Amino acid sequence: MAKGDHLFDCYTPPALTFDRGEGPYLYTAEGKRYLDFIAGISVNAFGHAHPGMIEAITEQAGKIWHLSNLFRIPGQHELAQRYCEAAEFADKVFFTNSGAEAIECAMKTARRYHYAQGNPEKIDIITFQGAFHGRTTAAINATGNPKYLEGFGPALPGYIHLPFGDHEALKAAMGPTTAAVMVEPVQGEGGLRALPEVCLRGLRELCDEHGALLIYDEVQCGAGRTGKMFAYQWAENAEPDIIAAAKGIGGGFPLGACLASKEAASGMVPGTHGTTYGGNPLAMAAGIKAYDLITEAGFLENVTDVSNFIKQQFEALKDEFPDVVADVRGKGLLVGMRLKKKNVDVRLSLMDHGLLVGTAGENTLRLAPPLIITEDHVREAIGKLRQVFTLARDWDDV
Ligand SMILES: *Cc1c(COP(=O)(O)O)cnc(C)c1O
Repeated sequence: MAKGDHLFDCYTPPALTFDRGEGPYLYTAEGKRYLDFIAGISVNAFGHAHPGMIEAITEQAGKIWHLSNLFRIPGQHELAQRYCEAAEFADKVFFTNSGAEAIECAMKTARRYHYAQGNPEKIDIITFQGAFHGRTTAAINATGNPKYLEGFGPALPGYIHLPFGDHEALKAAMGPTTAAVMVEPVQGEGGLRALPEVCLRGLRELCDEHGALLIYDEVQCGAGRTGKMFAYQWAENAEPDIIAAAKGIGGGFPLGACLASKEAASGMVPGTHGTTYGGNPLAMAAGIKAYDLITEAGFLENVTDVSNFIKQQFEALKDEFPDVVADVRGKGLLVGMRLKKKNVDVRLSLMDHGLLVGTAGENTLRLAPPLIITEDHVREAIGKLRQVFTLARDWDDV
């Protein structure tokens, strides 16, 4: 007898299988076309099969794939220099393969900074409800969502979870054992809530007051997704000490990075951290090309223009379907709508209509299209949303 499926049952994908992609479209082997407005969860910034990305990786693939960090990798220096130009506060970069590893590095860097300063008691990492920081053991402890922690042993000490946007609760929680405050400038999984710029500034001030470090998790909202290289850059006087980035920065190739100021990184001396694959030559080729595409003249302006158009179209959908849409959320091309009908049902129906989207917390429909889309792609998506919302009118409310 066949033993059945040999994969862990952590995911339950639909039967449909994609065979190839081009720009914002995916195709099945039978040739059915789908408009991909989730882009590998905010990863495929340039859509699928981008010629520049293919060229960059192919060229490097013919030279050296992997060396390990026992040897100097010139691409790391090149890409680190680019990031430190993009983010004024940053002087140092550690490359990883994923977002969770970038988060791990960020939290280790913060604690180690205080240790090196002679303050080993400063270990607490403060995070907020609705946060998502990844799935490794430390990252689920930072995330604090009981659903992700259940069954994985006792919660680790040194993590404090506060209500979202509650400045008074934060003020009360900060103290002599606070190592860092960590926040997504725009929450992804939590329901696409953008933290107001005044809150980011408030965080910066509170951290300064208490000698704590400020960490931004820009794994999902960074890499140009909101129309700036990093989402925090919409706010003035809100520079962090450390950033965790991933997803879009590799354009589809697994790549993460932890950016830090020279001071914040001062505890990370030889022997304190490591990775076998992180920053390998293939990843650097992809990362450098992705960075250069994002910073090309007009690229981020397009993100802003198209995202303004999407927002406007979503507001119109909300007016047209008040029984289906509760509110419009997000920033840049990390956008969505909180729904009055079950978000998963809407997502599946959209898939039947040839539009791929995601979901997020608070019954939100999440869209994170490739950053290269045009208003025509948005019109195509809106047409499909309108078809499905027309059906959803008759569904039960959540
Ligand atoms: C996806 C995500 C992570 C985790 O990244 P992985 O690459 O899945 O490990 C962390 N933080 C945020 C905000 C994310 O969206």
